[in-house]
Amino acid sequence: MSQVQRMSRLMAKTLRDDPADAETLSHKLLVRAGYVRRTSAGLWSWLPLGKKVLDNIARVVREEMDAIGAQEVLLPALLPKEPYEASGRWDEYGDLLFRLKDRKGGDYLLGPTHEEIFTLVVKDQCTSYKDLPVMLYQIQTKYRDEARPRSGVLRGREFQMKDSYSFDTTDEGLAESYALHRAAYQKIFARLGLDYRIVSAISGAMGGSASEEFLAPAAAGEDTFVDCPNGDYAANTEAVTFTTPPVDGSAHGAMEELDTPDTPTIETLAKFLGVPASATLKNLLVKVDGEITAVGVPGDREVDLGKLGEHLAPAVVELVTAEDFEGRPELVRGYVGPQGLKIRYIADPRVAPGTAWVTGANKADTHARDVVCGRDFEVDDYFDVVVVEEGDPCPVCGTGLKLGRAIEIGHIFQLGRKYADTFQLDVLGQQGKPVRVTMGSYGIGVSRAVAALAEQTADEQGLCWPREIAPADVHVVAAGKALQTELAVDVAEQLAAAGLRVLVDERPGVSPGVKFTDAELIGVPKILVAGRRAGDGVVELKDRRTGEREELTVAEAVARLT
Ligand code: ATP
Ligand code: MG
Ligand code: MG
Ligand code: MG
Repeated sequence: MSQVQRMSRLMAKTLRDDPADAETLSHKLLVRAGYVRRTSAGLWSWLPLGKKVLDNIARVVREEMDAIGAQEVLLPALLPKEPYEASGRWDEYGDLLFRLKDRKGGDYLLGPTHEEIFTLVVKDQCTSYKDLPVMLYQIQTKYRDEARPRSGVLRGREFQMKDSYSFDTTDEGLAESYALHRAAYQKIFARLGLDYRIVSAISGAMGGSASEEFLAPAAAGEDTFVDCPNGDYAANTEAVTFTTPPVDGSAHGAMEELDTPDTPTIETLAKFLGVPASATLKNLLVKVDGEITAVGVPGDREVDLGKLGEHLAPAVVELVTAEDFEGRPELVRGYVGPQGLKIRYIADPRVAPGTAWVTGANKADTHARDVVCGRDFEVDDYFDVVVVEEGDPCPVCGTGLKLGRAIEIGHIFQLGRKYADTFQLDVLGQQGKPVRVTMGSYGIGVSRAVAALAEQTADEQGLCWPREIAPADVHVVAAGKALQTELAVDVAEQLAAAGLRVLVDERPGVSPGVKFTDAELIGVPKILVAGRRAGDGVVELKDRRTGEREELTVAEAVARLT
């Protein structure tokens, strides 16, 4: 029999007002409903209701990972420097990494993700092709010193991730492990009740080739993706790389590592961008005939940038340098959207962090001044030329692409042999010769999923969980005096005896109005009220989502809910 959780004993102080620093719906509601409390920037304490939801999500993830034959392990979060030095990520991660020293002066880090350590575990455990394939996972606390830990648990500096890793001897094997994970993720997110899209992604600091993200569309999301209405193409705008420029002459491409002469002409610029010289470039800050000019920002609506012209006319184009910005802070700007500071920028790798710049629009009241690269947002040491807009033609069918905001809830990678090469992870093959192992890595933001789900399901009244994820199956409210309280507790116990997870609001001296408001805010899917007709043994069953109510006898209500 399940336990009845009494609200009078529950540590969940609800708040009427939004926390002052909260910008996103999930942040506001999870705090107001008493699920989480902020301990410090990006560090969150999970209170009883929040912990239940977090555990429910972890349980679904665990069940589906087990179902594809992945084995659960638990590795340390506190890690030695050496493996990350060997892979290069000790440096690559930069400020994102939490670093610390032990009493002997040895260098350690708090794990942001665990490719290195899993590779070493498998190197120790698996020696023959017969030991593979193997898939391992953990649900563990991860640490990243995020530049902007906003949005509550959506972007924590400490957060829960399910990370898994596959080890195969052949490329086909890796493709199979990847496919298994992809299918498991589809099941997981469907069970969680999340609306999501699978999109192409860049592999970022992970390295490797094939990579897809699972994005949950939501206004609070920090990712922008393009979606073909015919389902022919979907990608994170970070990953958009069209091979041929669309017919309208607009340019598309995500650039990495630009290596250009100091004073490129339009022709050189176009050449390394891989577009015709007549293309319209977006989101590029350059000097044209000595004047600094910004060209478009995609994805972020309502911007009205100075342009180089509909088509780049032959002119001398220079890359701007730090000196150009001295005494001209108005040139360093970010775009302030509904989610706060949103920046697209171009950083010259030759310029030190802190002196790089952003491009932004020139519209009044939509911009922040004096933002500093590295302090206010992450520094990427490559030119960020994101050039795709709503309505741009789908590279497959030509239909106009839709642009949307979303939360990255999962990410899957075919890493290939990058880490196996670093750590010489070989197994003895069928022919008696060593075979280099090929790997995949797969993440789900378990704590982020709590917030993503809240974002997608909440309404004006508060949170509104799907049953499998909710902290209880039913929330019983005693709306009245002793008679109602007695009935409420009695029904709650009957429901618990039938195996349901029950929350009962029997708080003395709390008005029915306050209890109803709290029930709506907490968001358990069914609300059962012992009120006016308690004397006749009649209760009211309310559906949290639809608001539909029904008067039922206690026996009917119990039968209905079980
Ligand atoms: P983002 O683009 O949002 O910074 P990421 O691409 O850096 O995420 P991955 O390295 O792919 O994240 O990690 C796997 C998953 O972990 C992500 O898909 C996301 O769901 C989750 N995650 C990453 N960073 C955070 C964070 N700071 N707080 C909560 N969850 C996170
Ligand atoms: Mg990140
Ligand atoms: Mg990402
Ligand atoms: Mg990612």
